[in-house]
Amino acid sequence: MIEVTAIPALRDNYIWLLAHGPQAVVVDPGEAEPVRRHLMHGHYHLDAILLTHHHTDHTGGVAELLASHAGPPPVVYGPPGVLPDLPVRTVGEADRIRLWPALELTVLAVPGHTLDHLAYRGSGLLFPGDTLFSAGCGRLFEGTMEQLFAAVERLGCLPASTRTYPAHEYTLANLAFAAGLEPDNALIAQYADRATNAQMRQQPTLPTSIQLEHDVNPFLRTREPTVRTAAERHAGRTLGDPLEIFSVLRQWKDTSTCTLTLHRGPP
Ligand SMILES: [Zn+2]
Repeated sequence: MIEVTAIPALRDNYIWLLAHGPQAVVVDPGEAEPVRRHLMHGHYHLDAILLTHHHTDHTGGVAELLASHAGPPPVVYGPPGVLPDLPVRTVGEADRIRLWPALELTVLAVPGHTLDHLAYRGSGLLFPGDTLFSAGCGRLFEGTMEQLFAAVERLGCLPASTRTYPAHEYTLANLAFAAGLEPDNALIAQYADRATNAQMRQQPTLPTSIQLEHDVNPFLRTREPTVRTAAERHAGRTLGDPLEIFSVLRQWKDTSTCTLTLHRGPP
């Protein structure tokens, strides 16, 4: 049985800690100190570190974790060039990482947010980094819109029950944007209510699931007539295929000042 715990870090990052008995793995440690506290508290040995991409809010803690471990050093897995000065076991599309007998992860190359971006999946879990957020997706920093669209669609094709652990707590802001597009989508309103309650208790809104994302995430709903209509209204023109709708949504969201103006719906 794999236990997954959120370690809040930096401003709104989550470092995900996977534990199997006394063994632990962390995904995207942007800083070391909160990870060390969790390892100490849970009496875990850190076996491995998984990196999704090179941004420092995902990698900033790796050097310190390598320097400060007790026992055998954790193996760091990541895309080529992610931390040139540190020992990283480079992985890419379709590679398999056997962490424990109970957990084997498959690597998915999902460029777009960055060109080196990877996701890790296995045992019904998905770690999409900054590619797929709950009710949103990553910004386009290095790749093309086609790449980001393909990456998000690809993750959307995973089994609906896949538990999904994005690297940031952006859910409420994303839901505000989604609710603006689809004001009559009751599932968005219900999720916003649950997410608001979680955040009021200072709990993560995550994990999410691929099914929930199909229900609420506009970037996976580009084939929905309501989403198309909203995107066309914003663009002021008729739009073509789902990629074009995705592209309008991504650019719109980059410039939107959507804040948490969600109305608490009925229970
Ligand atoms: Zn990033």
